[in-house]
Amino acid sequence: MTTSLDFHDILDKKDQLIATAKRCFERGLQTNAGGNLSVCLETREAIVIKPSGVGYNECTRENLQLVMMNGEILPSELPLKPSKDLEFHLEIYRRRADISAIVHCHSPWATGYASAGLEIPCLTVQTVEKIGRMPLIPLNDQLGPQTAEMIGPYFDDPKIRAAVLANHGTIGTGKTLLAAQYLAEIIEETAHIAYVRDAMVAAHGLKTPASPVFGTLKDQKMALSAE
Ligand SMILES: [Zn+2]
Repeated sequence: MTTSLDFHDILDKKDQLIATAKRCFERGLQTNAGGNLSVCLETREAIVIKPSGVGYNECTRENLQLVMMNGEILPSELPLKPSKDLEFHLEIYRRRADISAIVHCHSPWATGYASAGLEIPCLTVQTVEKIGRMPLIPLNDQLGPQTAEMIGPYFDDPKIRAAVLANHGTIGTGKTLLAAQYLAEIIEETAHIAYVRDAMVAAHGLKTPASPVFGTLKDQKMALSAE
């Protein structure tokens, strides 16, 4: 099975993952050894994923893990295991052929917002254009982490590209790791902006102003001309 995998593609995807993980760490979206990110090989037979217990800033070609799409974990050079969130990554890839990369991090503004039980509003034009909606997925019934079975169905809606896990973190997806990382950054930025807006609205006794409906003027013109 392993011999059919393209060695050059594996190295290429490992290097992309290392670069994205560094960017995520340097932006402060993920500290310590939490969070995880993965990318599909071109054939979608297998994924490259961060190992459990290794920080975003410490990912190397040697410690990244390879897992077949059916869940079979391929032997690795070091005694490490794939991230414990492996199952939800595979679940999203199996449901969405248009998603080839996932960045999951515990970024503080977004996780704090979600832990208050609030869905982060898409209140900037960029968020409306790039994300549209980022559903809030609650803890499981026993107040434990969200399972793959809970997360997967949210991605059956082809419009969903990002989600936020209450008391846990964020999920950004994309065709490439950089695209998924951009969404992880937009989610965090949006939560920060929403917090400032909500604090200003409360401090000044204002009513919450309307959020944008359209992300681009082109979408607005198309919608208005269709009326
Ligand atoms: Zn996590």
